[in-house]
Amino acid sequence: MKKLIILGGPGAGKGTQAQRLCHHQQIPLISIGDLLREAIAAQTTLGQVAHPYVEKGELVPDQTMIQFVRQRLLESDVNRGWLMEGYPRTAFQAEELDFLLDDLGQKLDWAIYLQVSEEVSMNRCFQRSRADDDPKIVQRRIELFYERTIPILEYYEYRQRLLTIDGAKEVTQVQQQILQQLTFE
Ligand code: AMP
Repeated sequence: MKKLIILGGPGAGKGTQAQRLCHHQQIPLISIGDLLREAIAAQTTLGQVAHPYVEKGELVPDQTMIQFVRQRLLESDVNRGWLMEGYPRTAFQAEELDFLLDDLGQKLDWAIYLQVSEEVSMNRCFQRSRADDDPKIVQRRIELFYERTIPILEYYEYRQRLLTIDGAKEVTQVQQQILQQLTFE
């Protein structure tokens, strides 16, 4: 049973690589950003809580996210493995994810980190047309990535679960690098 997370700043290529990897490994994708955007569009309770944060490029509070991820991992479609994209994004979420996986009798295989420079992040976001890809909001999302998410790389590195991949390369090359480095126990 494969359990993976994919991390990276805005425009690092998380979504694209996550989709390809899920297809290749035959595991379901849990895209936290997409789920939040869907919840906002459908105005669910989660959507209403998340909306003001997502709109400004801020992080949705940890407690809300942790609860949401717990529920998502209890659903039956993910009992044979999964790849989670965009989560965890804070040290607290990373620790809580390990507690949750412990509870579920699961263990994370790898945290795949797509590394790109700030310049690549910016340029790629400007080529998309998502509501939160407005320059000021992208800047804030990048800032939060460095402040809140970069520290959790150490958390996974220490546990020997971090795969760092050069995300600036072309899509298929990035995918190849990931596949070359992925091993499962
Ligand atoms: P993404 O599509 O992964 O870039 O996520 C879009 C937005 O959803 C982010 O800018 C945050 O506002 C929110 N979001 C996604 N994942 C998380 C998370 N793990 N914790 C808090 N907020 C999140």
